[in-house]
Amino acid sequence: MCGHALHPADRSLRCPAGHDFDVGRGGYVNLRTGRTRRVVGDSAVMVAARESFLGGGHYGPLTARLAQIAHPVPGGPFGPPGRVILDIGAGTGHHLA
Ligand SMILES: [Zn+2]
Repeated sequence: MCGHALHPADRSLRCPAGHDFDVGRGGYVNLRTGRTRRVVGDSAVMVAARESFLGGGHYGPLTARLAQIAHPVPGGPFGPPGRVILDIGAGTGHHLA
């Protein structure tokens, strides 16, 4: 929205410009703004189905590749560690974990 970094504050993430995003009960943060902010997320059944599917290893090669990129080997092709990783729209945080 403004490009400033978000920092934890109580049960939300805030930027120096005053943008504020609540941390949901499930631990995720919805970064939507305006009229789209009140979109209903996935149901518990939908999340459980996704966890079951991802837990079955069907996306194992993708998960392994993402982990390789997130934790680059020193001298490898992806540069130094310390970059920010944004897991957006992925639902369960499976790949981030
Ligand atoms: Zn901001």
